[in-house]
Amino acid sequence: MSENFDAIIVGLGAMGSAAAYQFAKRRAKVLGLDRYAPPHTLGSTHGETRITRVANGEGLEYSPLALRANILWREIERESGAGLLTQNGFAAIAGKKRAAKAGNAEFLEVTIAAAKAAGIDYEIFAGKEFRERFPAFNVQDDDTVYFDRVGGFLRPEACVETQLKLAKNKGAEIHLNEQVLTFEQTHGMVRVKTAAAEYSAKTLVLAAGPWLPELMEAKLMPGLKVTRQIVCWFRVKAAARIEDFQPQRFPVFVWQVPAEQISYGFPALGGREDGVKVSTEQYAVAVDPDNMDRTVSVAEQNALYDEYVGPYFPGLDRACVRSAVCLYTSVPDSRFVIDRHPVHSGVIVASPCSGHGFKHSAAIGEAVAQMALGEPHLDLSEFRFRA
Ligand SMILES: Cc1cc2nc3c(=O)[nH]c(=O)nc-3n(C[C@H](O)[C@H](O)[C@H](O)COP(=O)(O)OP(=O)(O)OC[C@H]3O[C@@H](n4cnc5c(N)ncnc54)[C@H](O)[C@@H]3O)c2cc1C
Repeated sequence: MSENFDAIIVGLGAMGSAAAYQFAKRRAKVLGLDRYAPPHTLGSTHGETRITRVANGEGLEYSPLALRANILWREIERESGAGLLTQNGFAAIAGKKRAAKAGNAEFLEVTIAAAKAAGIDYEIFAGKEFRERFPAFNVQDDDTVYFDRVGGFLRPEACVETQLKLAKNKGAEIHLNEQVLTFEQTHGMVRVKTAAAEYSAKTLVLAAGPWLPELMEAKLMPGLKVTRQIVCWFRVKAAARIEDFQPQRFPVFVWQVPAEQISYGFPALGGREDGVKVSTEQYAVAVDPDNMDRTVSVAEQNALYDEYVGPYFPGLDRACVRSAVCLYTSVPDSRFVIDRHPVHSGVIVASPCSGHGFKHSAAIGEAVAQMALGEPHLDLSEFRFRA
């Protein structure tokens, strides 16, 4: 006999830990299963920081999630005492004819439109003005910079750890190092098989991140792809002022540099030797999360520095003091898919979130729990399955 739950969650990373907390908060009988022990470094939710922006250059449909998530992050901080969210400002930088080739050429314009639609305050700077205010950034005089004070960064590992802890305290059953092998829906219940046992629930939430392709038929998510991303922390030069890289003088940023992709980055969270995290994206090469290179080569570090870092931050040294490999799980146009499974109505899919999902994860977890329990929730119609 398998044990019955209101909900079972497969994967306890960003989306799954948020969902586990939200189900448990509603006193639902919930089981969370993960093949590893989150927070871990094998999926999509590690590397110290994630940008949060209410004004999303990816589209106006994301702002309600970000606004709700910011409220929830603060609630979770109050409940747990953990420090999760720092709102030190967000800058979107672009210049005439300087859009990244494979990036969204309208990123700045959509960011401004999203800020207006969401009703948040923002400023527009000419390049020179922005440089005077934030001297670490070598923006050009004819660049334009969007800036707001709502954006900033989250601590992903602490967010996952905290929500799992709160979920457990509220009665959630959490099984780590237990991989889900299969699921099937019969007679209104979803049955889940792991290497250790079988369980049933009214709702199954698939939050498997980069392992989602193992649990979804490919034809249901055309273009679903997992890509390897690298991030590096570059040392602050002895000749540069460390204060210029610290949160009060260095907002998180997304920069339409004249290269293949955008660059993005974070302030220094320690001293100059701890470095400043800057990265870019790549969607060209797909990988298998169970069989891939998880180290960042010196050649990759140098290429990142030469194309995306050195010319834009003269105060950062070529020395990469730390690096990490992380995974994007994407469908075309970097859309989200948060919807009931097209074949199994008792299954809710809460991935992929295409490289920009973390900031919204608290709100996605809440909406998923509300959807499963028949409560009103944020409008997710923009994130439906598309054939
Ligand atoms: C380098 C990088 C930078 C990013 N920057 C940003 C940013 O600045 N801002 C932002 O908002 N977003 C950002 N993102 C995206 C964001 O981090 C992801 O959208 C989010 O973390 C995805 O969370 P997830 O829960 O889908 O996946 P994960 O957190 O990877 O969780 C999936 C979990 O499922 C488990 N699992 C998988 N298969 C099974 C199974 N069969 N049985 C049991 N457990 C299973 C795994 O062990 C894992 O713990 C970035 C991502 C990367 C990689």
